[in-house]
Amino acid sequence: MLINLSKNSSQEEIKEIVAHLNHHGLAHHVVEREGIITIGVEKNPSPSLLEELGQLSGVSEISECSSPYKLAAKIAKDEKTVIQVKGVPIGGKGITIIAGPCAIESYEQLVILGFALKEMGISILRASAFKPRTSPYSFQGAGIEGLRWHKEAQKEHGLLIETEVMDTRDVEMVAEHVDILRIGARNMHNFDLLKEVGKCGKPVILKRGMSATVEEWLLSAEYIMTHGNHEVILCERGIRTFEPSTRNTLDLNGVAVARTRTHLPIIVDPTHAAGRKDIIPAISKAAIAVGADGLLIEVHHRPDEAKSDGPQALLPGELKVLMQEVRAVAQAVGRSL
Ligand code: PEP
Ligand code: MN
Repeated sequence: MLINLSKNSSQEEIKEIVAHLNHHGLAHHVVEREGIITIGVEKNPSPSLLEELGQLSGVSEISECSSPYKLAAKIAKDEKTVIQVKGVPIGGKGITIIAGPCAIESYEQLVILGFALKEMGISILRASAFKPRTSPYSFQGAGIEGLRWHKEAQKEHGLLIETEVMDTRDVEMVAEHVDILRIGARNMHNFDLLKEVGKCGKPVILKRGMSATVEEWLLSAEYIMTHGNHEVILCERGIRTFEPSTRNTLDLNGVAVARTRTHLPIIVDPTHAAGRKDIIPAISKAAIAVGADGLLIEVHHRPDEAKSDGPQALLPGELKVLMQEVRAVAQAVGRSL
């Protein structure tokens, strides 16, 4: 159940409603968005309790909600959420392309790629300073120094910047450096990290775990939202299947299903879904056709020298061609790029 309070509800009214929920053993979260208080309640109560709650002072509207996530559910909002990141919309009519290297390697790399993307009309540069690598022997990322390069390079290219955060202790510091935080697939179930980014005050890209169901993915979004952050961008990046010819299997069903269940923006990462560059244009077009709001793509100006994921990175010129192809599909489905 979702309880929306009247715009000018008082602290006493909120306390009274919360006391009622506690009295009836109903787990809940009180959240505030744009001055409006919403209470997400775990269960739908009995009809008599529903009536009782509806009569409490300060309650404006109650919606029953059968899904385990409430704030992320479609019913919580009349329209799709459009997240404005310093004037760049994610989730609107336009398709948002976020691109950049897998890992931050140097200040120069970020400046070169930033300008290459800017020239293509891309507004957001991705790049990770902290890398969740399968092997402890693999490059682990440039760390804090890398984040400083990210922020310094931004002064040159002027794009918005995003990066992955892996540790609860780093959230505040990472949020000071970038415009958008990213939770990687391996951390989708890291609930302490989700709670922490819920308090960070910056938009968060939430990747779907490689073995997570759509419901679990949306419940992870709910963790971030119940901790105060409504700016969650879901990202499908492929799930594990038996198929060995690609690194993961891009779950387009999952994108379409999530679209029916949530108002949040959904983007697709074709790079980690494929793990090979040759099929990235094909699956990117499919993602947009199925309703994704954007793409998160790895690009590198010298992929042969990349410290991670070089073989799957597109060259800037290849990304430019992909954008043209994706634009045609976007237009066919009533979107723009
Ligand atoms: C990434 O985008 O840099 C990444 C590590 O992807 P994922 O978390 O999807 O594996
Ligand atoms: Mn990568």
